[in-house]
Amino acid sequence: RSPDTKLSPRQEERNMSKPIVAIVGRPNVGKSMLFNKLIGQRLSIVEDTPGVTRDRIYGECEWCGRKFTLVDTGGIEPRTDSQILTFMREQAQIAIENATVIIFLTDIKTGLTASDQEVANMLLRSRKPIVLAVNKMDSTGRVDPDFYEFYNLGLGDPIAVSAVHGHGTGDLLDDIVALLPEEEDEVADALPDALNVAIIGRPNAGKSSLFNRILGADRSIVSNIAGTTRDAIDTVVERNGKHYRMVDTAGIRKKSTVYENIEYYSMVRGLRAIDRADVALLVVDASVGVTEQDQKVMGLAIERGCAIVVLLNKWDLLDDDRKREACMETVDRRLGVMAPWAQYLRISALTGRSVEKIWAMVDAAEKTRSQKISTSRLNTFLTDLREFGHTVVDGKRRLRMHYVTQTGVNPPTFTFFVNHSDLVNDTYQRYVENRMRSTFDFAGTPIRLFFRKKEQKDA
Ligand code: GDP
Repeated sequence: RSPDTKLSPRQEERNMSKPIVAIVGRPNVGKSMLFNKLIGQRLSIVEDTPGVTRDRIYGECEWCGRKFTLVDTGGIEPRTDSQILTFMREQAQIAIENATVIIFLTDIKTGLTASDQEVANMLLRSRKPIVLAVNKMDSTGRVDPDFYEFYNLGLGDPIAVSAVHGHGTGDLLDDIVALLPEEEDEVADALPDALNVAIIGRPNAGKSSLFNRILGADRSIVSNIAGTTRDAIDTVVERNGKHYRMVDTAGIRKKSTVYENIEYYSMVRGLRAIDRADVALLVVDASVGVTEQDQKVMGLAIERGCAIVVLLNKWDLLDDDRKREACMETVDRRLGVMAPWAQYLRISALTGRSVEKIWAMVDAAEKTRSQKISTSRLNTFLTDLREFGHTVVDGKRRLRMHYVTQTGVNPPTFTFFVNHSDLVNDTYQRYVENRMRSTFDFAGTPIRLFFRKKEQKDA
């Protein structure tokens, strides 16, 4: 590499695509508790997005300098005993298909069960790296003799943990980190300036159809290249001389049959793509409208700083005004709250309607996402905000904004230096965001605002 092909910040970002570690296990073994304990210690959830119902199924972990995404696959727990095995099989399958390392969690209180054994066999056959943990080993004294039973699973040395107290979680993390693949160097990237685009959305929204439509129309697909994450396949397409890297298209091209129908699963899979994307194309089934699940997926993309283009697909099915209005009502209601700035496009992957317009929207969103606002414009904004804004007062204390500076791009990030940062609540933050959005053009991109305490010396 010559010096001028040094990695751009965007590439650096993409390089850090994190491995996924999934927790699998019977209901009530303590998956969620372990999950919370592990991320509680090392949690770095980027930002709270107002209006998003937080779904605690994934979190970012860092241990000994290695970062990974921890996923609790216990999305929907079965109600009856007879469903447990089916449930566990599905869960394990999800983990096998998506995770880099699997934590198989069992429980000393119930001991080794037949379904544990069956799932263990499944995991073994997959040849994925597995860490076996036995939970609820709450007392630190003598080891419960039942513990040794777990060697029978053939998954190596079990690790005794207590999700409640946190015993053993350090050992567990050590083992996980040891099993993560070496951080790979950037795959020689012939197209350093390609924009990374992820196609996300619920099952049956039309993601595959859209992807095929894009490929079908394109006689200049550059290549399929293996992404930095194992099993990820990227497809580069060219439009008007620009390159777009469709990230992690493996799942879209080759659909997994049964599990595709689990909403939750498609969400987990989407995470990996979102991780590396600059722009997320959220495919919505317009005949259904924007659902809560769409909103969640969008929340994840926003959290990870992706620009968003909402594609209202299957528009061809909306053949009368009433249906069209019903769809737009869901757009207003669901996007209005969370991301009123998101741009949307009515398309049909089936007929090809407006599919070509997607690229211009992607470009526009990328532009606002990477923009820098000049200091003088920010200063003017702050002056206006001071003069015509509402202030926050708490007793004798009054919030004062000293100055603001742009501390990042992709997405645009601003830090406000204030006298009392604790006075800044969600409402006020949203207010400032709205004011910024009406002053500057941030269409299609999330923005981040930080408020830091700073004494004004030269008042
Ligand atoms: P995915 O699960 O998101 O990949 O969705 P698919 O691409 O498999 O599409 C699900 C179903 O919706 C299939 O039966 C498609 O033929 C159908 N479909 C996809 N896009 C459109 C569209 O624009 N219009 C209509 N009418 N049907 C569509």
